[in-house]
Parts: sequence; structure tokens; C-alpha cells
Amino acid sequence: MLAPLADVQARPLRDLRISVIDRCNFRCSYCMPKNATHRNGNFLSRGSLLSNREIERLASAFVGLGVSKIRLTGGEPLLRPGLTHLIERLASVSGVQDLALITNGILLPQMAQDLANAGLGRITLSLDSLDEKVFAAITGYRGTVARVLEGIEAAKQAGFRQLKINTVVQKGVNDHTVLDMVRYFRGSGHTLRLIEFMDVGNSNQWSFDHVVPGSKWLQRIHTRWPLRPLASQYPGETARRYAFVDGAGEIGLINSITEPFCGQCSRARVTAEGKYYTCLFSDQGVDLRPLLASEHDRSALQERIRSCWSRRADSYSLDRDSSGHTTPKVEMYRLGG
Ligand code: SAM
Ligand code: SF4
Ligand code: SF4
Repeated sequence: MLAPLADVQARPLRDLRISVIDRCNFRCSYCMPKNATHRNGNFLSRGSLLSNREIERLASAFVGLGVSKIRLTGGEPLLRPGLTHLIERLASVSGVQDLALITNGILLPQMAQDLANAGLGRITLSLDSLDEKVFAAITGYRGTVARVLEGIEAAKQAGFRQLKINTVVQKGVNDHTVLDMVRYFRGSGHTLRLIEFMDVGNSNQWSFDHVVPGSKWLQRIHTRWPLRPLASQYPGETARRYAFVDGAGEIGLINSITEPFCGQCSRARVTAEGKYYTCLFSDQGVDLRPLLASEHDRSALQERIRSCWSRRADSYSLDRDSSGHTTPKVEMYRLGG
């Protein structure tokens, strides 16, 4: 094992998010807006996706550099052919302490048990509203709330406990349904996390006016169901956590816009075709694919990852221009959240 890596701000490399496919069965307005995506979609062909073996090599190389948490993402990761075989491989990589996946949940009813059997450790699920109309409008009229709730139940039956449920809040779109979400998930054993709408990608028409600061939710929720702050569980945790005083579990606030956490950011991301990014808001990735074809290239692969991370100075959210002016970025559905 090589010496632990740190970037120019002494931030270690601890987490790796691997996008396993860029396609999706939803068209969320903040991620893959229908019109823009259909115009510029250009999804990767099946043959251009990294193979399971290449992803296993990739993961193992990152783990050798200090990564202990791996999250599979996309696009919609459950659409990737052979996903359960990939999970089996990753679960057996020595040093992976936390193997997680984030999904829109629509395919969980038929896949949750296979994912558990393959060795997946945790699931995070995205659900922006319990109101079918609001949900349909956000997701481009794909899927239903009822089906996602079935997915949550299937995950529970398969043995996944304490799911994290991510809700991206957009002012004027779903903010009027947030307290219903809080009421529904309080006491359910799952943890709702409210995420500020972010200016990822180039086509979601982001503006600060559409962001509801997490501090407002803290006040509103606390007024209705008193909360007390919880200590973070590990360095670099993105969510501020609060427990319901009455014992009905906890809630998380991910205030990426109003309270950026770049100073603690220890996440690297790799796209489904092998491009390595050190920030969600980058536009340039480093191509790792040529070094993934053979086990013999492991040292060169680790050197490329290391040299890129050690030069890393990213702090996009701290430096964000609040006027809403943004530079070109890779799309979220290619990079993975
Ligand atoms: N398709 C899966 C899903 O939706 O869970 C995984 C990929 S998705 C890109 C990962 C996460 O990014 C989701 O929780 C999604 O809500 C979040 N996300 C996408 N665009 C976002 C944005 N503009 N602001 C905040 N979160 C966003
Ligand atoms: Fe698909 Fe997830 Fe993006 Fe929604 S947020 S369009 S479910 S990749
Ligand atoms: Fe990390 Fe970049 Fe997000 Fe800052 S803006 S927290 S550096 S991914």
C-alpha cells in the first residue's frame, strides 16, 4: 500500500463514486432536462462502458491509495447490464469498507434481493416528492411515486436498513411538498436528506432564486418537530444531521450551495467510460481507460490518479459566482452524483 494521498489543501482521497452507465429511465428537470438531453444526449454505447473487470481494477487501485468508500451511480445504475456481477467483484476487493449505490428506485422491486445477495452494503434512493403530479413533472413523466415506494419496501425486505432518501428541493417546484416528506419518513427507520438544488451540468437553468437554503428547512422542521444536532460520523460528511427530539429518527440537510463543504471534500469520481474527475463541477477529466486493460499497468494507473489528486485545488462551491454565471461543466448524469 502506498502512502495516503492528499491534495494541495491537505484533503485526503477517501471516497470514490463510479458511474456505471450514463443512461437513465427518468428525465429529471435538474439533471437530464428532456429537451436538452434529447438534443445533446449522445449516450455511451454498451461497448464503450468500462467492463466489470476494468471497474474492479479501477476500484482496487483507488483503494490502494486510501479509498475505503465506493458508491455506484449513474445515470441510473440499475440499468447497467451485469450490475450484480460487478457488485460481487467489488464486494470482494479487500479494503472496501462501504459499498453503496444510489438509485431512483424504480427497478428495485425486481432487483433489491439480487443486489443484497451480491454483497451491496447500502442503498441511497432519490425521491423528490410524494405528490404524484409533482413527481411526474420533475421526472419527465417517467415512473410513479407508488412504484418508488414499492422499491423502498423491496429494499427493506431484502435486508437493507436505514435507507437514505435524497430529496432535491427546488423553490416553486416541490418545496410545498417537503414537510409531507418529513412527516412520512419520520419514524420509518429511513433518513430523509434535503439537498439544495445545485448548478451542476449546463442545461438545468439553475439560478440562486430556485434554491431554498437548508437553514430555512431547519427552522421550519424544528418548529413542527423539535430537532437536536448530531455530531458528524466521519470527516467530510456532507449532510448536517439532526435527530428528532421525540425519538423518530433523524434528518439530514445537504447545504451544498449556502454552506459549501469543499474544505473537507475527499471524493473522486470516474465516469462510465473511465474519465477521472476531482470535482463535481469540473469540465476536464483524466482518461484512465488506457491503464485499465491489464493488471500490469496498476502502478502506472495509481501514479496517474496520485499525480492528479496531489495537484487538486478544486473548491468550486466556495468560489461560486452567486450571480448564476457558470462555466461549462460535465453533465451530472455522466459523472454521477
Ligand atoms: N439516477 C440515480 C438517482 O437519481 O439517484 C443516481 C444518479 S443521480 C445523478 C445522483 C443524485 O444526484 C440524485 O440524488 C439526484 O437527485 C442528484 N442530483 C442530480 N442533479 C442535481 C442537482 N442539479 N442538484 C442537486 N442534486 C442533484
Ligand atoms: Fe436519472 Fe438520477 Fe438524473 Fe434523475 S437524477 S435524471 S434519476 S440520473
Ligand atoms: Fe467537492 Fe467540488 Fe463539491 Fe467542492 S464543489 S464539495 S470540491 S465536488
